[in-house]
Amino acid sequence: MSKTFSINAGSSSLKFQLYNMPEETVIAKGLVERIGLDNGVFSIEYGDDQEFEITTDIPDHGVAVGLLFDYLKEFNIIDDLNEIDGVGHRVVAGGEIFKDSTVVTEKVIEQVDELGEFAPLHNYAEAVVMREFAERVPGATMVAVFDTSFHTTMPAENYLYSLPYEYYEDYAARKYGAHGTSHNYVSRRAAEIVGKPIEELKIITCHLGNGASITAVDGGKSVDTSMGFTPLAGVTMGTRTGDIDASLIPYLMEKTGVTDVKEMINIFNKKSGLLGLSGVSSDMRDIEAEADAGNERAQLTLDIFVNRVQKYIGQYAAVMNGVDIIVFTAGIGENSGRQRKAILDGVSWFGIELDEERNDTRKEAIITTDDSKVMAINIPTNEEVEIAREVERLK
Ligand code: AMP
Repeated sequence: MSKTFSINAGSSSLKFQLYNMPEETVIAKGLVERIGLDNGVFSIEYGDDQEFEITTDIPDHGVAVGLLFDYLKEFNIIDDLNEIDGVGHRVVAGGEIFKDSTVVTEKVIEQVDELGEFAPLHNYAEAVVMREFAERVPGATMVAVFDTSFHTTMPAENYLYSLPYEYYEDYAARKYGAHGTSHNYVSRRAAEIVGKPIEELKIITCHLGNGASITAVDGGKSVDTSMGFTPLAGVTMGTRTGDIDASLIPYLMEKTGVTDVKEMINIFNKKSGLLGLSGVSSDMRDIEAEADAGNERAQLTLDIFVNRVQKYIGQYAAVMNGVDIIVFTAGIGENSGRQRKAILDGVSWFGIELDEERNDTRKEAIITTDDSKVMAINIPTNEEVEIAREVERLK
């Protein structure tokens, strides 16, 4: 039986799932957190509901991967490393180079590292983690799966900013988008659910999690997406601003006394969005609870979140000159019938008729009435299994 890792590394974290393929059954999954910080945490779930967690110093990603392999052996999850014949790595930025998932070679690792400028929190760490796996399981096929690949089909009128054209030619300054694995997975699943060829469908996919992005999928291809040069742009997110006017940067730096522009961008990435607006939390559940308890700022935060998503749905219906299906996925999209209803009620003029009973779900389900002109579907995303499938495809 073949075992395949699905790996998602960030600057201070590493998420892993180990699958039996092609059965797609999960053997083990877990998370290494606080890499390079005090009190690192390694946690793993395996077997029949067995769990293990340890707090220990994890100074770098090499140690993180080392711990993973040590515990796989210690808990007898793996007898022989040769059983692992595939490793899929999520890579955030593929720039204009990687239009599809690709088998990892030393050159690919170097390119992923060079693209670190486009996703500093992810690509550098991903390159390091690829090298660690290449050393430990040299016989396995390693595949890089890029968040941006799915969006490389966008036409120039949607990916170019209205900047001097040379900035695109000389510095590759353009929209790249993100969450491509998820948008790809849920749009194809939506076509399967309605039983129509994806080539005939106009789909708007709303990936609403802590990070959030909306994509216009026309005929199975991404034609526009709300994230931009980096994942900072688009709708209001857990801690990220989404779209703002660039002129705010010098203005706010002067007013707040922040002198380093990187610090300002850090505030836009980590202290803004739902957290910054509400002053309560970046977590949608907390904000819903606060709003219910009468906190007006929390209610305003919910209204802003809904408003931004509605605006992108409106934009993308215009970009595609129509829409057949709206898909909701990720933490908020999958679980919060309340946010789905708030969003869809405001765009009902498209011909969307929500079925409130059907919408009371966290599972895969059509949530509009049978008569609704535009269909809305709730589809739990599964980026991890999609990464493992990409390894199978390229093996
Ligand atoms: P993700 O990044 O996809 O894990 O999504 C995280 C977001 O989903 C957080 O804002 C959570 O509060 C939100 N979320 C998860 N479950 C629910 C729920 N039942 N209701 C509302 N939001 C939820």
